[in-house]
Amino acid sequence: MSHRAAHPLILGAHLSISGGLWRALERAAELRCTAVQIFTHNQVQWRVPRLTNEVAEHFRSTNLALGPFVLAAHASYLLNLASPNRALRERSIRALVSEVKRCAALRIPTLVLHPGAHMGAGEAHGLGRIARALERVLRATQGARVFIALENTAGQGSGLGYRFEQIAALFAGVSDPGRLRICFDTAHALAAGYDFRTREGYTAMWDEIERLIGLRNLAIFHLNDSLKVAGSRVDRHTHIGRGEIGREPFAWILADPRFVAVPKVIETPKENEMDRKNLALLRRLARPR
Ligand SMILES: [Zn+2]
Ligand SMILES: [Zn+2]
Repeated sequence: MSHRAAHPLILGAHLSISGGLWRALERAAELRCTAVQIFTHNQVQWRVPRLTNEVAEHFRSTNLALGPFVLAAHASYLLNLASPNRALRERSIRALVSEVKRCAALRIPTLVLHPGAHMGAGEAHGLGRIARALERVLRATQGARVFIALENTAGQGSGLGYRFEQIAALFAGVSDPGRLRICFDTAHALAAGYDFRTREGYTAMWDEIERLIGLRNLAIFHLNDSLKVAGSRVDRHTHIGRGEIGREPFAWILADPRFVAVPKVIETPKENEMDRKNLALLRRLARPR
């Protein structure tokens, strides 16, 4: 399969920025990654420290020196664009604007975002709030070369984005979705009830995503196995091949010519050098058989 030999695997991991943003890139090089996802600041704090030119420059030059890697950032877990609490919603909008700006300064083209949780207000209200918030964020960051990739979720609690119809509604709900993309998380999709473990299920799911949103809008994959069963709506990641998904569907994604140019990162548990093992397994699964 010559087209696969011509395309190096764009594969990596979500890596820690402890010790400095560029440290994630050094970790990526050690793991022989070609893609990296980071948090651009401590993701469990609202306060986003100012990004100095010096730090941004060092990050960009490290990326050129060690990679360049295909970069993505994951937005803070604290953000909730669907919050019925106006103060929290406004705070989330401000924080997301600042995250987009940080990504622009760091030359990170993709910022992954969980759409939000309606907290009991109902799905329609929640989706409306997210769309209006995204509209404001896109306007406030006009011209920034950063895509906001809406991640499909497991549908835990009141979390939205567990159906691709919901993500499609967000694309439809902003005046210009040109800077919106999607992030496909395998563990979340299974937990949300998309059973892509059979060839038929795999084909049907991608056909549906193509019809609702368009596969051209797929910016990044999160490759995680799921500890919880299909349709559980519980978000628990585990090591590749050791959960409910198993190895084969990962091999299909890795071999799928539609996804060759789409970066893929793992967000699996970090204990015992497991990133190394998960990445090695995915590289083996990516080899033509
Ligand atoms: Zn996520
Ligand atoms: Zn994810």
